[in-house]
Amino acid sequence: MIGWLKDLFATPAAIVDAATIGTDHGPSTTLARQLALVIDLNVCVGCHACVTSCKEWNTSGSAGPLADENAYGANPTGTFFNRVQTYEAGIFPGTDTIHFPKSCLHCEEPPCVPVCPTGASYKRAEDGIVLVDYDKCIGCKYCAWACPYGARELDESRQVMTKCTLCVDRIYDEQLPKEDRKPACVKACPTGARLFGDVKDPASEVSIAIRERGGYSLMPEWQTKPANQYLPRRITEAAGSPARPAAPPARPADSK
Ligand code: SF4
Ligand code: SF4
Ligand code: SF4
Repeated sequence: MIGWLKDLFATPAAIVDAATIGTDHGPSTTLARQLALVIDLNVCVGCHACVTSCKEWNTSGSAGPLADENAYGANPTGTFFNRVQTYEAGIFPGTDTIHFPKSCLHCEEPPCVPVCPTGASYKRAEDGIVLVDYDKCIGCKYCAWACPYGARELDESRQVMTKCTLCVDRIYDEQLPKEDRKPACVKACPTGARLFGDVKDPASEVSIAIRERGGYSLMPEWQTKPANQYLPRRITEAAGSPARPAAPPARPADSK
């Protein structure tokens, strides 16, 4: 368990008991097999195909239906397992647009699990997928507060906590052709930005991509060991394009 949670649980006995219940379904220590997504930020074009395919699959699948409030209004809101955030980075005119898909990272040390008072939130021992048992969830939101990545969303209609399931109801479905036993978002991505596999298998496509293309995890300082990783952007210049302007010099410190 990560340090700040240890401190949190060091005092009230009731909370310690709750933490123990929360880990019933599997160990939170490093597992032999850990399924995950690896997302290539260099080729993600921000098209939201992964967002819509995720929503479609999980609304009609065993994780759904996912709530939509005012779906066709001016300010639609609803429950999504996967969102793409878009940022502009750099200094004009040398700016970059960065599309950043984010879903649950299926952490190897998930702080969302031990805080759950009912054992609804758990990590599977066989493949490392972090899931929520809707029948046990009381919608208290402790797990959403504990997740440093903002990856959990309360389904307002059902009052249960939801998040990416790594399409657990799809990847093991033997009714599907083998090539379709992948997460819906991976299948839908038109640029191949989303890879899926076992990050503990050194010969898997995801492990090779992490090794050879500089894969990194989000906010490692939280010691959550996210299983999902990202492949970094590579800055390329079109032939003959003007060089990017250098960043302006830092302002001298104010003199007193
Ligand atoms: Fe839990 Fe958040 Fe990690 Fe997902 S990303 S396993 S919700 S802490
Ligand atoms: Fe557990 Fe549900 Fe509360 Fe999250 S919202 S801590 S899954 S009971
Ligand atoms: Fe959504 Fe499945 Fe992709 Fe997770 S793995 S973001 S649940 S489509």
